[in-house]
Amino acid sequence: MSASELLELSAVAAVKALAAGELRPSEMFDVYRVHAGADKLNCFTWVAPAQPAAPQPETPLGGVPLAVKDLFCTKDVPSQSGSRILEGYLPPYTATAVKRLQAAGAPLLAKTNQDEFAMGSSNENSAYGPVLNPWDQKRVPGGSSGGSAAAVAAGLAPWALGTDTGGSIRQPAALCGIVGMKPTYGAVSRYGMIAFASSLDQAGPLTRDVSDAALMLRHMVGRDECDATSLAFPHEIALPSAESLAGVRLGVPEELTGEGIEAGVLAAFNASLQQAERLGATIEQVRLPHAPHALSAYYVIAPAEASSNLARFDGVRYGLRVDADDLEGMYTQTRHDGFGAEVKRRIMLGTYALSSGYYDAFYGRAQRVRTKIVEDFRAVYERVDFVVTPTSPTVAFELGAKTGDPLAMYLNDFCTVPMSLAGIPAISIPCGLSGAEQGLGPGGRGLPVGLQLAGPAFSENALLDAAYALEQTIGFDSTPARP
Ligand code: GLN
Repeated sequence: MSASELLELSAVAAVKALAAGELRPSEMFDVYRVHAGADKLNCFTWVAPAQPAAPQPETPLGGVPLAVKDLFCTKDVPSQSGSRILEGYLPPYTATAVKRLQAAGAPLLAKTNQDEFAMGSSNENSAYGPVLNPWDQKRVPGGSSGGSAAAVAAGLAPWALGTDTGGSIRQPAALCGIVGMKPTYGAVSRYGMIAFASSLDQAGPLTRDVSDAALMLRHMVGRDECDATSLAFPHEIALPSAESLAGVRLGVPEELTGEGIEAGVLAAFNASLQQAERLGATIEQVRLPHAPHALSAYYVIAPAEASSNLARFDGVRYGLRVDADDLEGMYTQTRHDGFGAEVKRRIMLGTYALSSGYYDAFYGRAQRVRTKIVEDFRAVYERVDFVVTPTSPTVAFELGAKTGDPLAMYLNDFCTVPMSLAGIPAISIPCGLSGAEQGLGPGGRGLPVGLQLAGPAFSENALLDAAYALEQTIGFDSTPARP
């Protein structure tokens, strides 16, 4: 098999080729290692310097290399969460999700660039520089799993692991024209993930197609005694095969499909809904009355948890230490030099929200809004199987366009944060292009738009099936991102 044929294989196709002996694992790893090493998009913070120990030939993933977001601890490999404060940090252990994928036969190819501590929607908050979108290098890939999304879209890795706290898998997947899935909260162990907001953080796949997402997820889920919030997944994740959507009821929430969503994004979204109808789905309008308050609740809860999680970076235990005259000076100077502006903003917001006297007014109230959002979804799922929305209100925007306006940046997650607060699974698939009128994107044909499908907790198999059926009819062409 030629290198260019190899690079075109989806992960599922590569597993088959490896099992059939058409391809050797070492050959596949080396082609990707060289390819990733020549990356011009700044997707990676580390690329494997050598072959891993040969994977067992009988492993289910057979040696398909894996790119992993920087915030997963990987034994003796830099794990910096996009932050200066963890520069050069080599963990003594590997995160459970990565360990399981490695055990299933997916060796570590590279660590991917990300927003610092996963705070951001454009990858511009990384201490290691921004990542460029392979569809248009003047534009952001989305975030915070921007390196993972850009690497998969550009074909620099067969697939990648990311994390999603409020949209960080789904939104970059949408902006880069690939598939991204956030599983049910607790489906995948968080052990070894450098924490941002523990009640929201979930690991999940960023892949070229829906089948690859299912395959990766199958080997990640399950109870882990090192994470008390992890759960035994009730059944095996199956590879999707549905060809129709007959009997599937899709709910379109008016709160997430109106104001604030770009016209071109809505047009691509609506065209996909018509395709879903032709596949047999029924579409109804539904209400998520509290969804418009999700961002406000999220920006209290997530910073509150972050302010607590990030207290451990004190210059004593990990990474950077900046010396000063006394202990307190050392703490202060280390955190001053080690954290970027957005991380400091979140620590201050979170500390304020949790301070005595304000705790109930902010944190307590945000938690009550969160419960309302959970109840909204519960009511909707009595009538429909899945909620569908655009993933991101806009296509990929230009580098620097929103860095001066944190609130504009936060609005990127308008459609993804409600599902995070509710802990339910959601997948983004590419559903078309937008911006041809303005001549955006390769050949002026537009930039990718993502469609989000969200289901009740543990509905992953049904969700993957529906996404797969839709993906087959949409037939999105991702080749413009792989020059
Ligand atoms: N963009 C959101 C934030 O900045 C979500 C990030 C994420 O999901 N990790 O918090």
